[in-house]
Amino acid sequence: MKTIIEPFKIKMVEQLRFTTESERRELIRRAHYNPFLLHSDDVLIDFLTDSGTTAMSQKQWSRLMDGDEAYAGSRSYYAFEEVVHDLTGLKHIIPTHQGRAAEKILFSIVGGKGKVIPNNTHFDTTRANIEESGAEAVDLPTAIGVRPEVRADFKGNMDVERLEALIEKVGAQNIPLCMMTVTNNSGGGQPVSMQNIRETKKLLSRYGIPFFLDACRFAENAYFIKLHEPGYEHKTVGEIAREMFSYVDGATMSAKKDGLVNTGGFLAMNDDELARKARNVLIVTEGFTTYGGLARRDLEAIAQGLREVLNESYLAYRIRSVEYFGEKLVAAGVPILEPPGGHAIYLDARRFVPDIPPEQFPGQSIVVALYEHGGIRSCEIGSVMFGHKDANGKHVGPPMELVRMAIPRRVYTQSHIDYCIEAVIEVYEKRNELRGMRMTYEAPTLRHFTAHFESV
Ligand SMILES: *Cc1c(COP(=O)(O)O)cnc(C)c1O
Repeated sequence: MKTIIEPFKIKMVEQLRFTTESERRELIRRAHYNPFLLHSDDVLIDFLTDSGTTAMSQKQWSRLMDGDEAYAGSRSYYAFEEVVHDLTGLKHIIPTHQGRAAEKILFSIVGGKGKVIPNNTHFDTTRANIEESGAEAVDLPTAIGVRPEVRADFKGNMDVERLEALIEKVGAQNIPLCMMTVTNNSGGGQPVSMQNIRETKKLLSRYGIPFFLDACRFAENAYFIKLHEPGYEHKTVGEIAREMFSYVDGATMSAKKDGLVNTGGFLAMNDDELARKARNVLIVTEGFTTYGGLARRDLEAIAQGLREVLNESYLAYRIRSVEYFGEKLVAAGVPILEPPGGHAIYLDARRFVPDIPPEQFPGQSIVVALYEHGGIRSCEIGSVMFGHKDANGKHVGPPMELVRMAIPRRVYTQSHIDYCIEAVIEVYEKRNELRGMRMTYEAPTLRHFTAHFESV
């Protein structure tokens, strides 16, 4: 049988609310053309993010009832710790309320002025937490990693040669650790190969630099290794994931992604001294070491989610549904980042609306059109999210202008995806009507969340 079906059936439904195109034009105008400012009841299909938007399983819901809400030493913490330890092999497992809390704790300890933190590509909150500490965040994607039109496996890889050049330039003593983001979210959800993880580890070991994984989508990454990296086709995804973690000294994780839960995360490491400092920060900012800002029942749901995410029929469906979305768009000539990554379709805004220059936010213009036309909420990942003005007031943008349509886990069915395919194709057919945007308000950091826009 060729068709890969959703490996679940639906026990509880959540009603969608339909709106008309003229209603949506008014709603997005009132939201200052920023979909982060829309009410979710006014959204039909929500592809803003795959973060914390997962549908939990009946086992997860039943384990919530089983949570032990003790402040200290909760049974639920030990269940969580055992699963994370078994997966990562790391010694110290510190729960946090989400991924950025783990980042904040880590970089408030190892960051600071004069320090440099490399990564294949930093996620926006990772970069913000590094920069807030006074340190510098450096992205080192490979040359094909920033070329959306090139189809290749493992476009999420780190450029190991550039990493070595950076270490030589700034000195190993100024690099407290190196990160690797799997899958490479800001680089288009592209996977990283085991070989690249191994080569990065080897180089860092020579210089005595600790290696940390930003592990949000470790299971999707492991599945791509199984599909595309020679020598891994007969291993289980669990074995592949454990091998990925075996090369690192620590990890940050947002369980809102491959933890299959609505909130949670962790920070893990082998270094005793770093763990002691991290737990001290945790107690001040998040909560005691056996709950870290979460209800203890949430730790049960994460423990269960981390087991379910390694189920290969789940991953086959997950990766295939994103690939299917991409195939149909490519067949209609819509420019997307190829090949589709694990959790999202990224429209290539530069080729979609070539006449709108980066300083007029081509991605934002597409985001608005997708909402107005189909009630679909997506997210700009380009000059709005990563751009700034230089000393002369000139716009400086990132290498790619993308629109991310992130697919929540286990939430939408194939007919939802088919509807979205039609909507994107119809917007693409009307692309000559799209206008650039101007930003009329921006916050000093992470401006995309709250910015206001108007049409040029
Ligand atoms: C989501 C994400 C984070 C931050 O996690 P939150 O739970 O949103 O705080 C960090 N890195 C990557 C790659 C992510 O996708």
